Amino acid sequence: MPAAAIEAALDRHIELERVIDRLCLAKFAGTCIACGGKCCRANLAALTIESWWLRSVSVRAHGKWWPDDWQSRSGCVAQGPEGCVLKAGRPTYCWSWLCEPLLAECADLWEVIFHVFVSELPAELTRLTPTMDLLQLDEAGVTDNLPLIVERIEQAHRLLAEAKALIDPAAGELDKHRVGLHLLCRMPRLLHPIAREAMLDRIAGRQDGSSSRDAGDKEEV
Ligand code: SF4
Ligand code: SF4
Repeated sequence: MPAAAIEAALDRHIELERVIDRLCLAKFAGTCIACGGKCCRANLAALTIESWWLRSVSVRAHGKWWPDDWQSRSGCVAQGPEGCVLKAGRPTYCWSWLCEPLLAECADLWEVIFHVFVSELPAELTRLTPTMDLLQLDEAGVTDNLPLIVERIEQAHRLLAEAKALIDPAAGELDKHRVGLHLLCRMPRLLHPIAREAMLDRIAGRQDGSSSRDAGDKEEV
């Protein structure tokens, strides 16, 4: 597998994380800055430094960003004065962590689901198969599995684009589930798989709708 193909895949991963970062930053930056990064912990940056894939993503995006003595530092070495310095290559756990104050920033439950969904995309794409995790692969493993890795990254891009297209027209659609979802929102981690299923259902419904419309168009022609 040529190095250029791996670099292209790393770049697509960087693009995905940057879009997610912009979405999260636009919504949550003020709350996180006021909070001071209470959820950030010393051991989390190690997940990036020790994973061949995330380290390569982060170095391609930022150069070598960690200090040589990172193992003896207290606090997370990715934490800068304005929050996490990793716009790409961030530990997937850090993306998927959404605390209650952040969820409270969302205007409605559909927006909660949207943010949970997009925040989980980096973690979802790294589960290449039930037994193979992208973050555990070394360079040879990445090379051997690159077509599957590229497919997962492109799928995440497609799902992100679909979710963004859905967020406005779908607002309020989940009102009938408001009480149940409100209770679930008080347990954010438990909500994540449910939120993902809700968004995937909506995307599938939207795709079915456009296929029928396409079919209709063809019939009319
Ligand atoms: S995610 Fe929550 S706990 Fe972490 S820095 Fe932001 S507001 Fe604070
Ligand atoms: S990698 Fe970034 S988000 Fe994760 S703990 Fe460190 S500073 Fe916080």
